[in-house]
Amino acid sequence: MRKHPWVFSGAIDLASEDLQDGDVVEVLDSKANFLAVGHFQNATIAVRILSFDNKAIDANFFQKKIENAVQLRRNLNLFRPDNSIMRLIHGEGDGLPGLIVDYYNKVAVIQCHSVGMYRAVEHIAQALHSVLKEEVIAIYNKSSDTLAHKDQMEIKDGYLLGNCPTPHVALENGVKFNIDWINGQKTGFFIDQRENRALLGKYAKGKKVLNTFCYSGGFSLTALKNGASLVHSLDSSAKAIQLTDDNIALNQFESHQSIVADAVEYIKNLPEQYDVIVLDPPAFAKHRDKRHKAIQGYKRLNANALRQIKPGGFLFTFSCSQVIDKYLFTNTVIAAAIEVGRNVRIVEQLHQPADHPISAYHPEGEYLKGLVVYVD
Ligand code: SAH
Repeated sequence: MRKHPWVFSGAIDLASEDLQDGDVVEVLDSKANFLAVGHFQNATIAVRILSFDNKAIDANFFQKKIENAVQLRRNLNLFRPDNSIMRLIHGEGDGLPGLIVDYYNKVAVIQCHSVGMYRAVEHIAQALHSVLKEEVIAIYNKSSDTLAHKDQMEIKDGYLLGNCPTPHVALENGVKFNIDWINGQKTGFFIDQRENRALLGKYAKGKKVLNTFCYSGGFSLTALKNGASLVHSLDSSAKAIQLTDDNIALNQFESHQSIVADAVEYIKNLPEQYDVIVLDPPAFAKHRDKRHKAIQGYKRLNANALRQIKPGGFLFTFSCSQVIDKYLFTNTVIAAAIEVGRNVRIVEQLHQPADHPISAYHPEGEYLKGLVVYVD
């Protein structure tokens, strides 16, 4: 059996009539043999599989899954004196489709992407508390954004354990970040760039860096921590720039300037030259039918950066569009290089970090890809 965790609605021949979103359902084959148990939702993905064994989806189930997920992060050595930011549960990658849990220095932030997980949130919070013990002081449920379309249900955000004022300071690779899960995007921080920021740090000493689509400044701060001579951070959102400025102040870094601008426009004609440019745009394509347009967008953006970067410069370029795979993305950057006509070499191939694992049975879990290219 392939053990893929999704059952599409088109694959279901017969279903009980009174199914509600979020119900725990058994999936049977045409001969009524048990296949799996999962959360039902009246949508394209009709069932998200929780177990291929016939077991109860109860407190003990969540306890075991969360123990396993936390143990992986311990084995990955992510709980350290210099690091207290990580993804604890990454949906299908941790055998819990529809559930994201992020961790910020003793605060766990839950984000449910399915009604089933939302209905199980008390079990999830209990399990987090019992597994993390004194390593968790507050648990916040932030699911109103991700379940907004479920208007038949009242989705409320709030604390399930303790309480913690925001912004709350947490550490990523020795850099302090203010985290605000209540007002921030997603759960408050883009955790998936931790290792790629660290890599930028390796190349940053004495360099002049432009970090576009900076959000709360993750790449900028890591570059400054590692001795960059000057960093410019750019985002179209004034709120994002405020977060970046606050993080710069928190770490008492200097040699930094923020720019509120549309990166796609700004990069067409840079007023100054940089040794390192970071391009980390939001997903240009959320669906397959937007893929062609998105590729054109990535190509233009990358071509503009490649054209203007200093000789001997590094471009850190990313795509978090799940529908654009790493080969397509690499080919798009190569096409941009050919258009620009400079000598460009791919020196690093980047991806999502280990706390965003990809289940062998769910290759769709791969979404973040990036390249470091060196430009002569
Ligand atoms: N690199 C960031 C995460 C990027 S998230 C980090 O390491 O944390 C994408 C960011 O792009 C958001 O902050 C959003 O405000 C910004 N953004 C979206 N469209 C933009 C545009 N056209 N120009 C500049 N910034 C944009």
